[in-house]
Amino acid sequence: MSEPQGRGGDTPLLEVRNLTVHHGQLRALDQISLQVFAGEVYAIIGANGAGKSTLLRTIAGLHHPTEGSIRFDGKDINKLRPERRATGGIVMVPEGRRLFGSLTVEENLQVGATYARKGPWTIERVYEIFDWMAQRRSQRTAQLSGGEQQSVAIGRALVANPRVLLLDELSLGLAPVIVQRIYAMLPQILATGLTVLLVEQDVSQALRVASHIQCLLEGRTTLEGRPSDVTPEQVEAAYFGLGPQAGPGTTEGSGTTAAHGTTEGSGTTEGPGTTEGPGKGTTAEYGTPGSPPAGGPGGYGGAGSPPVSGVGLGGVAPSGEEQLLWSGSTTSSRGS
Ligand code: ATP
Repeated sequence: MSEPQGRGGDTPLLEVRNLTVHHGQLRALDQISLQVFAGEVYAIIGANGAGKSTLLRTIAGLHHPTEGSIRFDGKDINKLRPERRATGGIVMVPEGRRLFGSLTVEENLQVGATYARKGPWTIERVYEIFDWMAQRRSQRTAQLSGGEQQSVAIGRALVANPRVLLLDELSLGLAPVIVQRIYAMLPQILATGLTVLLVEQDVSQALRVASHIQCLLEGRTTLEGRPSDVTPEQVEAAYFGLGPQAGPGTTEGSGTTAAHGTTEGSGTTEGPGTTEGPGKGTTAEYGTPGSPPAGGPGGYGGAGSPPVSGVGLGGVAPSGEEQLLWSGSTTSSRGS
């Protein structure tokens, strides 16, 4: 989707090195590294509890790493408080939206604009890309559907004029059609010069939009590379910890896929979508409580059921478009 400015040569806009984060005794992230370049969409995938949100929240400054560094625009930001990171251009759309439900759409957007950087995004601009929003600007966000709330949450982040937009589980609890509509906004967002680091359980969605992916399992990297360079089998093994998957190479930036071997608990990871219902307490547009996340790998069965036809394909045969994706003809690859 995006054409990043470089991988391997240029300085990354955001760089995480050997990041380890604990929640009490739990090592939620173990030596995670990644490089996100200006203009790209980088996706973190992984099952429930893999550490995806912890990674985003640590980058946003909401958790303190035990080890490792985070550099933004070449500067170490480890000691920077969350609000300074936000005003510096690292803005997050949190999992579960976290809107102020008793405030109106416009008031929520005004909150996002309070300490905004200068830039192309204004409330009016948000109304242009989400065409339903202007007419409903006076409605309380608690009265909106899950998809509409997600759009307001994205709008609230955009009006801060981020340089890097952190998107945590946009698809959670939303119907696939709504998820696709929301992701369809990405090109317009990227066109304004933004860079996106997103977290997704919906693997096919992540592979569709990202130029680079990394899979986490129990806090560790199990796969990394361009979507066009990874096979469904590699993604599936990395996602579920199904055993050693030797990748063709391990060098970041070389254009090869780095599979990071086996993980503890190999083969024991629960299938996603089995521990939580959609929405995590937010408005769910999809299914009943306890249903798997829309379109995500949980779509192919219950706890521990093996994927049938490729991760994230919902247990049905992949469409022609998806086969193209798997065969590496996706337009989202970069730097080849
Ligand atoms: P999910 O999709 O379920 O949110 P995730 O990949 O985003 O999963 P995290 O939310 O980062 O995973 O959680 C990683 C691990 O850390 C899990 O075992 C989770 O229970 C634990 N965890 C996350 N936040 C906290 C916290 N604030 N205190 C204690 N443990 C936490």
